[in-house]
Amino acid sequence: MSDSCDACGSAVEDALARTVRLSVDRSTVDEQRLCPGCFADWIDRYEREMQSDPDVTIDGENDIIVD
Ligand SMILES: [Zn+2]
Repeated sequence: MSDSCDACGSAVEDALARTVRLSVDRSTVDEQRLCPGCFADWIDRYEREMQSDPDVTIDGENDIIVD
């Protein structure tokens, strides 16, 4: 088990870690464990993509859905 952020590689406590999941056609294609800083960057990036691509959505579990 890795205790590090998948994006920046720094150690992150379980209590602070966020898991994000990219799903295409209901199957998970990518799952990452992120520290709070990288999580915020990741959400920002996808929110920008959502504005240009209406098929990209983020649900309440922070799963990224691409239809
Ligand atoms: Zn990070």
